[in-house]
Amino acid sequence: RAKDAGRRAYRFFETEMESRLRNRRELEVDLRQAMVTGEFEIFYQPIVSLATGHISGVEALLRWRHPREGLKLPGSFVPLCEEIGLIVPLGDWVVRQACRDVAWLSDHLGIAINLSSVQFKQHGIVSTVTQALSHANLDPARLELEITESVLLLESEETLDALHQLRDIGVRISMDDFGTGYSSLSYLRRFPFDRIKIDRSFIQGVEAQADCRAIIRAVSSLGTDLGIDTTAEGVETKEQLRALIDEGVTEVQGFLFSRPVPLDEIRTLLVNSGDMVGAAA
Ligand code: C2E
Ligand code: MG
Ligand code: MG
Ligand code: MG
Repeated sequence: RAKDAGRRAYRFFETEMESRLRNRRELEVDLRQAMVTGEFEIFYQPIVSLATGHISGVEALLRWRHPREGLKLPGSFVPLCEEIGLIVPLGDWVVRQACRDVAWLSDHLGIAINLSSVQFKQHGIVSTVTQALSHANLDPARLELEITESVLLLESEETLDALHQLRDIGVRISMDDFGTGYSSLSYLRRFPFDRIKIDRSFIQGVEAQADCRAIIRAVSSLGTDLGIDTTAEGVETKEQLRALIDEGVTEVQGFLFSRPVPLDEIRTLLVNSGDMVGAAA
């Protein structure tokens, strides 16, 4: 009897694994197809300057309009894209498209684009960015590339080289999800970042948890001392906004101002939005 149960458990385990593998294979087939048929879209979320109260830029956030499953978030497909290398052509597409979109949208707004560490392993990133800027006729100073510590974890000279080359052409480099990694502070020494994006988890705790507030205060003053901008991600409430104003971060971003929206909606928002901080607080 114990043997039967064992065998059943084993069989169950096997089918679990099989079905997970099958799902993965199906997702992979769907992703490659999506690349060919153009099912990817870019949504944009405004970034609001606390100095002016106005939208200073937008962050490009990838979406997949799946033919059967509807709109999918990057968390459900970017990791597999990274594993199978598809993130390189897909990420290149995001860079080109987002540069074109923002050039069309405005003559001064900034554009922030997320890059995967895999895009740095493949070497083409500097020429992809250079070409995208020139095709869109976009001032490099308007482009900001967001990387997470996984990029610096590569510890490769080539990666640091690429980051320096990008910075030399006038592109800005931000450290995304600051505070979630193992040694965020040490990365600030390894590369001269232009911006720190304080992870949403700290913003969520800013009112109730004294430690979150202390950390935000410290990062914000570190930014001031180093001459680095500090953006608070995931601002959802007025109370959070007020605390962030008090702690002196330079930009805010979150559902309180707007969710990520398609390009035409961001255009409408830009026309109608004045002082977003005054309106929200
Ligand atoms: P991220 O770069 O840290 O982007 C911020 C995420 O927080 C976005 O999720 C955004 O929709 C969400 N967010 C913004 N404001 C709020 C808020 O007030 N509350 C809450 N709960 N969430 C908020 P999203 O769009 O699902 O993207 C998740 C991650 O996927 C991004 O995190 C980024 O790491 C990655 N990603 C997005 N687009 C790309 C891309 O084009 N290439 C690569 N390699 N990664 C991307
Ligand atoms: Mg980001
Ligand atoms: Mg982030
Ligand atoms: Mg994140």
